[in-house]
Amino acid sequence: MQRPAIIHKTAADLRVAPNLADYADTCRSFSWEAAREALSGLPGGALNIAHEAVVRHAGGPLREHLAFRFLGQRIVRDVSYGELAALTARFANALQSLGVARGERVFVLTGRIPELYVAVLGSLRMGCAVSPLFSAFGPEPIATRLNLGQGAVLVTSGLLYQRKVAKIREQLPTLRHVLLVGEDGQPTDVPGTHDLGKLMAAAADDFATVATRPDELALLHFTSGTTGAPKGAMHVHGAVTTHWATGRYALDLHPHDVFWCTADPGWVTGTSYGIIAPLLHGVTSIVDEGDFDAERWYRILQEQGVTVWYTAPTAIRMLMKAGAELARRFAFPQLRFIASVGEPLNPEAVWWGKEVLGLPIHDNWWQTETGGIMIANLPALDIKPGSMGKPLPGVEAAIVRQGADGLVEVVHEPDVEGELALMRGWPSMLHGYLNNEERYRKCFSGVWYLTGDLARRDADGYFWFVGRSDDVIKSAGHLIGPFEVESALMEHPAVAEAGVIGKPDAMVGEIVKAFVSLKKGFEPGDALRMELLGHARKKLGAAVAPKEIDFVATLPRTRSGKIMRRLLKARELGLPEGDTSTLEAGA
Ligand code: AMP
Repeated sequence: MQRPAIIHKTAADLRVAPNLADYADTCRSFSWEAAREALSGLPGGALNIAHEAVVRHAGGPLREHLAFRFLGQRIVRDVSYGELAALTARFANALQSLGVARGERVFVLTGRIPELYVAVLGSLRMGCAVSPLFSAFGPEPIATRLNLGQGAVLVTSGLLYQRKVAKIREQLPTLRHVLLVGEDGQPTDVPGTHDLGKLMAAAADDFATVATRPDELALLHFTSGTTGAPKGAMHVHGAVTTHWATGRYALDLHPHDVFWCTADPGWVTGTSYGIIAPLLHGVTSIVDEGDFDAERWYRILQEQGVTVWYTAPTAIRMLMKAGAELARRFAFPQLRFIASVGEPLNPEAVWWGKEVLGLPIHDNWWQTETGGIMIANLPALDIKPGSMGKPLPGVEAAIVRQGADGLVEVVHEPDVEGELALMRGWPSMLHGYLNNEERYRKCFSGVWYLTGDLARRDADGYFWFVGRSDDVIKSAGHLIGPFEVESALMEHPAVAEAGVIGKPDAMVGEIVKAFVSLKKGFEPGDALRMELLGHARKKLGAAVAPKEIDFVATLPRTRSGKIMRRLLKARELGLPEGDTSTLEAGA
C-alpha cells in the first residue's frame, strides 16, 4: 500500500500538551545553563546524579510516589522514592564499610532486579563510578571490561558468579570485593566475597550524598570499535542535565506518567533512560525482568497503564511478526507516546504502530558516546517515517565531509550523504575513553564531534540514517566489535584466522557471521562448526557469539595484514567488491 511520506500531527494526536510545543521557538530560547537550573545541585556547585534522581524527591511530596515497579520472574516489587533513597543510602554505607573510596569503580552484573538499580544509584551517591554489564556476557567480555575499567567491586548473583566469574577471578587483579545478591547469594569461602543482603541490613539508611563535581566520573559504558578492545566511554555527573532535558523534550515525560524503557542497563539506553531520566522527572518506571515475549509485553502495557514507552526496532519488528491479532486482544487507552532507538526503524514499523497500537513510533538517534538522545521525532513534530527526526534543543547536528585542510567542513546542501557530526559542548558528551586518549581525540575535528555514522539531512532539517562508516555490527540493537569475536574464535586450537561481519537480517538488523580458516590437520565439517559455535558462545555469551560460521581456505587481507571485512561482506552478499587495490595477492 502506498502511504503518505509524512504523518501530520494534529492537536487530537496529542493526549496531553507536549513539553515542547513549538520546535523553532524552544530551540531559540534553550540554553544548557537554564536547563541546569531545573535541577537542585549540591552546595559549592556540586552535582550528583543520584541526588537529582532520588534524594531530592525523597524529601518532598514524591516521598511515597512509586519510583519503580519491578516485574520480577516470581514477584512484583514496588519501590517508592522514599524507599529508594533509604536503599541507596544502605548500599553507599555498605561500600564505605568495605573501605571502598570515592572515585573507585563498581561493576554490576545481574538481571534487571531491584538490586541492580539500587547498586547503580547507591554507587553514584558514594561518588563511585559505576558500570552495569549485560548478564548475558560470557567470562571473556566480563574480564576485558572489568580490567579495562579497573573494577574494585562487582555486584552479581551467586549463580552468575559461579557460572561466569569464579573461573576468571584470578585474572581480575583490581577486584577487591564481590557482593552477592539474592537467595542464591550465599557467600563462597573466597576472601572478598560478601552477602550484599547482610551488608545492607547492617548499614544505616541515611547517607550524605557525596558532593561530586559536575566533571567527576559517574558512568562507564563499554562500546565496541572495529579493532582492539572495547572502548570504555566515560560519562560524568554533569550529564544529568542532558538526561533531564531529553526526558522532558524527546520522551515528553509528565509528572504522573508510567514510563517503560525496555532496554537493559548494560546498554547506555537502559541506564540513561531506564534509570536516570524518569527518576529526574519523578515518574514511575516499569522494569520487566523477563526477556521479550510479545504477549507478556502487551499485557504489561495494558495492565500497568504505561503512558510513555521507549523500546527498540528489533522488538517492534518481533511484535509485528507476532501479528496484529495478538495486539488487538489488548487495549492501551493510557498509552500516549511511543519512541524507539538503537537501529534504523523501518517506515512500515512507524505505520504499524499507528495502525495497530493507535500511535506512530517515534524514532530517535544517539549513541553511547553522546550519553543521551540527540536527534528525535518529537511529539509535536510531523513524522517522516524512516527519518530519525530533528536535533534536540541545545544540540547542533550537521553533515560533514573531509575538507582540503584536514578539518571537516559542513555540507550545507540538503540530501547529501556525509558523516553525522554534533557540535561539541552538550553536557553528556563523553569525557574520554578509558586509557585511550588518542582514540578520543580522533572523535573530534575542530568544534565537531564525529559520530562514525553516515547520514543525510533533508531540506526540512530532518536527518536520515544511511549506515555506519566502520565495520561494527548492530545486532538486535547491540553494538558488537568484530575484533572481540575474532579473538575468541582464534583461541580455539583449530582456528588459524577468523574474520567477522554483520550479515543483514530482516528481524534483528544484522547477525554475527564468522569466516574461519583452519590450521593444518583440521578438516571443515558440521561437527567442527558446532564445536566452534559452542566455543564462542561459552566465551562470549549468547548476545555476542556468531550465529553462523563458514569455513574458507584463506581470508582476504590488506597488504598491511588487516582482514578486509568489507570484502567478506561484499562476497557474502554477492555485491561488487569495490576497491581491492590494497588486497594481498592470492586472497
Ligand atoms: P550504541 O552506542 O550501542 O547505542 O550504538 C550507537 C549506534 O547505533 C549509532 O552510532 C548508530 O549507528 C546506531 N543507531 C542508534 N540509533 C539509531 C537510529 N535511530 N537509527 C539508525 N541507527 C541508529
